[in-house]
Amino acid sequence: MSYVDEVYERVVKQNPGEAEFHQAVKEVLDSLRLVIDANEEKYRKMALLERLVEPERVISFRIPWVDDNGQVQVNKGYRVQFNSAIGPYKGGLRLHPSVNQGILKFLGFEQVFKNSLTGLPIGGGKGGSNFDPKGKSDREVMAFCQSFMTELYKYIGADQDVPAGDIGVGAREIGYMYGQYKRLTGLYEGVLTGKGLTYGGSLARTQATGYGLVYIVDEMLKHNGNELAGKTVVVSGSGNVAIYATEKAQQLGARVVALSDSNGYIYDKDGIKLDIVKDIKEVRRGRIKEYVDAVPTAVYTEGKGIWSIPCDIALPCATQNELNLDDAKALKANGCFAVAEGANMPSTREATDFFQENGMMFMPGKAANAGGVATSALEMSQNSLRLSWSFEEVDEKLHGIMVGIYAKAADAAERYGVKGNYVAGANIAGFEKVVEAMMAQGV
Ligand code: GLU
Repeated sequence: MSYVDEVYERVVKQNPGEAEFHQAVKEVLDSLRLVIDANEEKYRKMALLERLVEPERVISFRIPWVDDNGQVQVNKGYRVQFNSAIGPYKGGLRLHPSVNQGILKFLGFEQVFKNSLTGLPIGGGKGGSNFDPKGKSDREVMAFCQSFMTELYKYIGADQDVPAGDIGVGAREIGYMYGQYKRLTGLYEGVLTGKGLTYGGSLARTQATGYGLVYIVDEMLKHNGNELAGKTVVVSGSGNVAIYATEKAQQLGARVVALSDSNGYIYDKDGIKLDIVKDIKEVRRGRIKEYVDAVPTAVYTEGKGIWSIPCDIALPCATQNELNLDDAKALKANGCFAVAEGANMPSTREATDFFQENGMMFMPGKAANAGGVATSALEMSQNSLRLSWSFEEVDEKLHGIMVGIYAKAADAAERYGVKGNYVAGANIAGFEKVVEAMMAQGV
């Protein structure tokens, strides 16, 4: 049996019930076969793959908090410190009822390669809780965040592990967690990123994931003799990533016609009016269906189905496995020729294979959405320097990083004879740096 298959089997056996983690490991290892086969003896001796697929540490803890009725609630909390070969653990915190250890291990594993690809000195980690922020009062969110940090603070630090936002964690939650960290430790340090601008946050961090996604799409199109201007784009989700991907795509002359949330999607043939979406999502914390109250010519449809809307470019920016094989076929049938992932692993394995086998351009999340974590690393740099850069300075650096990620993924794919396969390219380029650092540091 090949080394890859052996290690994959071991992962399935040793991590029962963690389907998303198995999926992510398989996807990555399959695309690394060429590299691994060429170095099999060396890697086997060092148990390199066995080490790569095992988190350095998984911390799990209890989060008790008091709700508005005076009732004590208990949630599960986790931090997966996956790999610190190239820098302190770095990665978001997710608050969503679907969160469990397997989901966080998949996200942490992906983060290792993503962070490596940015070219910045950050290892990979991920954390979160099954707490559902939906419908909670501001005080309840604060109580939860404080309790979460009361446990987590023992394991993190500016040079050790630097969490950030993810689904369900934005500036408000980071603020409450940062306040609690400071109260408990007395340290005013860059232990979290995505902070508010008045206490060490970076300009352009809010926009970074969405902007970065569109920068890399633009780069991919240019290298394939095409351009973004004039194209019709469908974006799923309506959170931070979706909103700023829409903003940048519109700035570059594309027409974004759809957005969604977990209940349904809106279609606006005249192009999404983003100020209305921002008001609904960022100010009122409402649902996307409220858009049609302000724009009666737009249509709201309950349920899934956003991928049946005709478009040139699809940007899945909601969550994992939101786009399956049928969706991929519908996209292709309706003229879509490029897909880039704003979320982490939003396309199923079958969908990814379909895109690649049918001549569509496909940029995987670990390259396409790396602008967020890259700008988090720029926030860490500014905190260490004790200064702050202008919006333009950060945005320019972000743009340069995304162009660099495209080049690395495209180049690695070409070196291994799979030109245009950005899945293989991104995995190989990310893997090479982590492996070199792991080998250099011994066991
Ligand atoms: N949650 C984001 C991601 O998936 C950002 C992480 C960070 O900024 O550390 O990459």
